[in-house]
Amino acid sequence: PFAAPDGRGSGSVPNNMDAFWMPFTANRQFKKAPRLFVGAKDMHYTTDDGRQVLDGTAGLWCVNAGHCRPEIVKAVQDQVAAMDYAPAFQMGHPGAFELAAQLSALLPTGMDKVFFTNSGSESVDTALKVALAYHRARGEGTRTRFIGRERGYHGVGFGGISVGGIVTNRKFFGPMLAGVDHLPHTHDKAHQAFTQGQPEWGAHLADDLERIVALHDASTIAAVIVEPVAGSTGVLLPPKGYLEKLRAICDRHGILLIFDEVITGFGRLGTPFATDYFGVVPDIITAAKGLTNATVPMGAVFFKNAIYDAFMTGPENAIELFHGYTYSGHPLATAAGLATLKIYKEEGLLTRGADLAAYWQEAAHSLRGLPHVIDVRNLGLIAGIELEPIAGKPTARAFEAFLRAFDKGLLIRTTGDIIALSPPLIIEKDHIDQIFGILADILRDLP
Ligand code: PLP
Repeated sequence: PFAAPDGRGSGSVPNNMDAFWMPFTANRQFKKAPRLFVGAKDMHYTTDDGRQVLDGTAGLWCVNAGHCRPEIVKAVQDQVAAMDYAPAFQMGHPGAFELAAQLSALLPTGMDKVFFTNSGSESVDTALKVALAYHRARGEGTRTRFIGRERGYHGVGFGGISVGGIVTNRKFFGPMLAGVDHLPHTHDKAHQAFTQGQPEWGAHLADDLERIVALHDASTIAAVIVEPVAGSTGVLLPPKGYLEKLRAICDRHGILLIFDEVITGFGRLGTPFATDYFGVVPDIITAAKGLTNATVPMGAVFFKNAIYDAFMTGPENAIELFHGYTYSGHPLATAAGLATLKIYKEEGLLTRGADLAAYWQEAAHSLRGLPHVIDVRNLGLIAGIELEPIAGKPTARAFEAFLRAFDKGLLIRTTGDIIALSPPLIIEKDHIDQIFGILADILRDLP
């Protein structure tokens, strides 16, 4: 439990909350009424006042195997005692090679190359940089433009916010957000509200990529990046046939296709990756979160072999890619990753979502008809419940639902007026009943 060095505030609210500038948080509001976790086990958190809170969001879409799994804890403890750190440049350690090899076995055929980062944001920046350098290495250095998508979230690096499509994440940050264009997002309640699984309507929205290519010319475009399922902006699903169309248009014009699988990776849809679920193979996949069950920060980028090979052409003593992080393949992260993959495999967690998806879908859609609910959408073990905003006070209604859920012992996540759910993949049916039962109670008397 938390304890200040002098013992003050042990297990409870810290005496001084001023210094920590919290990320993506209303700092002043939070610090007046803090919500603190001090423990976690399997499907639950423990609050500082000793309450159990059911984790409906796997932390931030990342604790896929449930909390504090003893095998992962032990692997990290053993590793830190044996070797805390090894330099990542011009040196190596066995764990990083082993983890990369095991990951490549999970990936589509011909996509065997793994670059390690420390977060989803770094994975996105790595993918974008490699896309540029790849075209240049092949003599197509004019391909410098990226195409993202409205309502896309690709982390908070300058690359990620450039291709991202969330105005609040972009508008404050000036002229470095250049050289991009955006596809329209794929969500339209008029055609899709209360769809179970992938919407029928909307594949044609991918055709906009042809318009964008015609506008800029293919010779200026390096890559298209999309989340196969957009999570952070409120669970936006790809219409049937949409990702297939993007793939075909990218192929036609020599444009790389990047899937940002930071949330869809590692079993979220009931398949190891979204590429498996949709049967559409991109050229590059970005990942993080579930890779280490969030025990130690780690991200990874997966590349088709042809991309890696394009860099392996100069003299053997030349560094092929001037990119990397001090903590790329950190020993603690690789130990956590290997222990996590072992659990995923032994417990079948990367496909468990497929067994539970129908039950989850039915439970989510049972909220239809309750006050304020204007849409429910789902895929795998993801659900989005969209509420009618209070007039003139966008986000207030969903945030109130979040606070009430926390009081009732359930962690949900809200974005705008949308509730997003993404539980650990170890979830049981009675947890699913609890999640949607608590939500139904809350919705019945929410202002
Ligand atoms: N990409 C996607 C699709 C994400 O959902 C996220 C985080 O939610 C990121 C990138 C950024 O990851 P991180 O917060 O680890 O930098």
